[in-house]
Amino acid sequence: MIIKPRIRGFICTTAHPVGCAHNVQEQIDWVRNQPSLKGIRNVLVVGASTGYGLASRIAACFGAAAGTVGVFFERPAVRNRTASAGWYNSVAFERAAKDAGYYSKSINGDAFSDEIKEETVSAIREDLGTVDLVVYSLASPRRTHPRTGAQYTSVLKTVGEPYTGKTVDIHTGVVSEVTIEPATGDEIDNTVAVMGGEDWDMWIQVLEAAGVLAEGVRTVAYTYIGPELTRPVYGDGTIGKAKIHLESTARHLDARLRKRNGRAYISANKAVVTQSSAAVPVVSLYISLLYKIMKEKNVHEGCIEQMYRLLKDRVYAGTHVPTDESGRIRIDELELREDVQSRIESLWQSVTTENLEAVSDVQVFRAEFLKLFGFGLPAVDYAAHADPGQPL
Ligand code: NAD
Repeated sequence: MIIKPRIRGFICTTAHPVGCAHNVQEQIDWVRNQPSLKGIRNVLVVGASTGYGLASRIAACFGAAAGTVGVFFERPAVRNRTASAGWYNSVAFERAAKDAGYYSKSINGDAFSDEIKEETVSAIREDLGTVDLVVYSLASPRRTHPRTGAQYTSVLKTVGEPYTGKTVDIHTGVVSEVTIEPATGDEIDNTVAVMGGEDWDMWIQVLEAAGVLAEGVRTVAYTYIGPELTRPVYGDGTIGKAKIHLESTARHLDARLRKRNGRAYISANKAVVTQSSAAVPVVSLYISLLYKIMKEKNVHEGCIEQMYRLLKDRVYAGTHVPTDESGRIRIDELELREDVQSRIESLWQSVTTENLEAVSDVQVFRAEFLKLFGFGLPAVDYAAHADPGQPL
C-alpha cells in the first residue's frame, strides 16, 4: 500500500511504518553515541510509544542496557487503515531491542484500567522480578475511572479569565488571535482527573503491593512550566491545575518510597513538538519561535536529548539529585534562559502571517509534526509500497 499523510486538524490519521522505524532508529543511534548510563536495570514506562515516554524507553534501553516494559494505547492496522504512529514506533523499538539482546515487552491497552496494571505486574514478576525505575509519561484526552466507571475528558482552557493571544495554524501559516474561554469547575476537575496524579499513584500502589518495586526504586512524571508567554494557557490553565495535582502526588509518593530508599520526582521538560503539544493553541506559535532561537544559540534539544540528560545528569546523577526550590527536577533551563526568552518576547510582538516564515521555525514545526507520523524523511521512499500490518 502507498501511504500518504492525511491530516485532520491537529492529527494525522495515517502513519508510515518505515518512516516511524527511521525515527526510532535515529534516536537509538543518537543514544548509542553518548557515554553509557549507569545504575538502571529494569524500567517500566507508562506512555512509552511516542514523545517523551518513547525517548525515555530508548534512553534507558540503549543507554543503560536496561530491560524495559512499555505500556501504551495505540491502534493496530485494520484492513486498509494504517496503524497509529506509536504502534509502528513500538514495533521498531521491540525489533531493535531484541536484535541487540535487550529484554523488552510492550503492553497495548488502557493504562488507566486495573486489567492493564495487572497484566504489567505479571510481566514484571515473571520476566524481571522488579523494576528500579518507573516513568509515568501519559498524555491522554480522556480517562475512565477504574473503580467508579466515571468518564472524564480533559480540556485546554484558562482558569478564571478568558485569554486572548496570538496563535498559528501550522499547516496554513496563518497567525491569528485566539480567545480561550475559562473552564467551568467541572471541566477543571475532569482535567485534573485525567492528567493529575491519581493514576500515577494507583500504578505505584499496585506495583508496591505486588512486590515488584526494587529497593531504591525511582519514579518520575513529567510537567511543563514554560515562560510567562504561555502561562495563561498552560501553567495557569486547566492543564496547569492537573500538573499541580501531579506535583502534590509526587511529594506524597516521595514520602512513601523513601521508606524503601526510593524517590519520586517531577521533571519539568522543555517544549517539544509531539502529538500532544501540537494541539495546544498559542503554544504552537511559541514552539515555532523557540526552535528557531534555540537552534540559533546552539542549545536546541528534542525528546531524546532531554531524556538522556534527565537520566544521566539528574535522576542517576549520584546521591544528590539537583532540583529547584519546589523539589522539581529541571531540564528546561536552556529553554528558559533569559537571552532565549527575551528574543522570543520581542519576536512575539512583531510576528504576523506575512513575516512568520522569516522569523520563526514554523516550517520546522510542520516538518517535525509530519515526522511524528513517519512522513517527510529523506531516507524513505514514499512512492514504494509499505506493509501497514506490522505485528507487535
Ligand atoms: P505523547 O502524546 O507523545 O505521548 C503520550 C503517550 O501516552 C503515548 O505513548 C500514548 O500511547 C500514551 N497514552 C495515552 N493514553 C493512554 C492510555 N489511556 N493508556 C495507555 N497509554 C496511553 O505525549 P508527550 O508530549 O510526550 O507527553 C508526555 C508527558 O510529558 C505529559 O505529561 C506531558 O504533559 C509532558 N510534557 C510534554 C511536553 C511537550 O512539549 N510535549 C513538555 C513538557 C512536559
